[in-house]
Amino acid sequence: MCGICGCGEADVRVEGHHQNAVHEHPHDSPPGVVEIETALLAKNDHLAAHNRTWLADRGIVALNLMSSPGSGKTSLLRRTITELSPSRPVAVIEGDQETRIDAERIRSTGAPVVQINTGAGCHLDADMLARGLAELRPQHGSLVFIENVGNLVCPALFDLGEAARVVVVSVTEGEDKPLKYPQMFSVADVVVINKIDLLPYVDVRLEHLIDHCRSVTPGAQVLPLSVTTGEGMTAWRDWLLTSTPSTR
Ligand code: MG
Repeated sequence: MCGICGCGEADVRVEGHHQNAVHEHPHDSPPGVVEIETALLAKNDHLAAHNRTWLADRGIVALNLMSSPGSGKTSLLRRTITELSPSRPVAVIEGDQETRIDAERIRSTGAPVVQINTGAGCHLDADMLARGLAELRPQHGSLVFIENVGNLVCPALFDLGEAARVVVVSVTEGEDKPLKYPQMFSVADVVVINKIDLLPYVDVRLEHLIDHCRSVTPGAQVLPLSVTTGEGMTAWRDWLLTSTPSTR
């Protein structure tokens, strides 16, 4: 049971058969009382630090993608992988409560992928990422995208050991999303505003959505784009190439 939000984590499944974890710490999530929340997050931070060292030792850059369900994370990754290939080795860890649907969508691009199903859990944590990385065994110097479980609350609290955090919001979600979920947007290094091709059909002013992003997270890059039409994808690709340089 997650001590933060009370969601269940008992039946986490990582696809595959490799059992060599990045670290050996047990993951016995305590019950959800306030004192324990601090300990749970401190334990997660400790495991995240292990992940960060493990990734750095291999010259791997990991990005944590977070959003509501349906913002277009998997579609963004599919197009990004296609556009970066073959100049940069890319691998993906897919987090969903159930099914391997998104992992199969990523696999069709040719990129290595591991699916983590969290069951009733509403976020990935550092232990799950460690297990996913042990299974994925990403190439040294690669870029690893971590697609978190679709949820704008709990994923913001759990450091995974990533190099940067990407929050994706689509214009169909409304221009006030950053104001309603400031915790999530405040941890973003980049905010991708997706589905701008749908702006003519929704009651959202892009400039207001951008302003709301900047008011919550003034230091973040805000990148409006459309995965469908490709508009704005160059700025996203340029950010990836300049901010996540291969160190091998
Ligand atoms: Mg997805």
